[in-house]
Amino acid sequence: MATTELFTDPADLEKLRKPLTPEQADKLPHIHRLLLGYYGQPKPRELWDPLTQLIYSLLSSRTKTPVSHQVMRDLERAFHAGPSNWEPVRDASVAEIERAIAIVTFPEQKAPQLKETLMGITARYGSLTLDFLAKYRTDKIRQWLEQFPGVGSKTSGAVVNFSVLRRRALCVDSHHLRVAQRLCLVPRADAATTEERLMRLVPETWDAAMLDEHHSLIKLHAQTLCTFAEPKCGICPLLNICPTGQRDVATLKLT
Ligand code: SF4
Repeated sequence: MATTELFTDPADLEKLRKPLTPEQADKLPHIHRLLLGYYGQPKPRELWDPLTQLIYSLLSSRTKTPVSHQVMRDLERAFHAGPSNWEPVRDASVAEIERAIAIVTFPEQKAPQLKETLMGITARYGSLTLDFLAKYRTDKIRQWLEQFPGVGSKTSGAVVNFSVLRRRALCVDSHHLRVAQRLCLVPRADAATTEERLMRLVPETWDAAMLDEHHSLIKLHAQTLCTFAEPKCGICPLLNICPTGQRDVATLKLT
């Protein structure tokens, strides 16, 4: 696939600060409508407490969704743990945790990160829960979460948006990043900056559930048609508005 040409000039950042034109303001809603028409309504999410969501998000990075759900069941079974009772995982050794989460990618990195994070929460709050975060502003919650190892903007975004905290945030994972960059929605940047820039395009009327639905559609699209290695641009419902797809389809026709 050809390299995506994206905004890289600092002058483009200036453009991003200007009020949106009606066309810009309808970009994400238009994409959302097209994906909804193609894939249908995503299944509603079961909302977990923030600590359970944090554990899931830490373990699920670069891991397929069914495997991530299985590893949560494995953890619960191995340590007789679960929502409101993650202490047995915190108190287990890194080697025991690593054995229990062996099916995810990079268990040797995730096991010490998980233990350190669970111990860190206990040390800072006095007990192992994140329910107290509900009384804080979203930016404060994310800042607090991001002090722990392995917790970046993607994970903190998932915790505040997908859990019962249900705050306005966009979880920009590698799937979301790839699709947003191929659609040239934002300049090429890391997940935190991409989220900040995408949020400028999000209508004010979109609440937390709508942002979750948007993320789910983009992720589904990234896993189905806009895949990493072989995007199926020829049958993509977004082809008419995707500069990368149009260029690649045109190149293929010429060669
Ligand atoms: S046209 Fe191709 S690159 Fe663009 S969003 Fe669709 S699959 Fe992805």
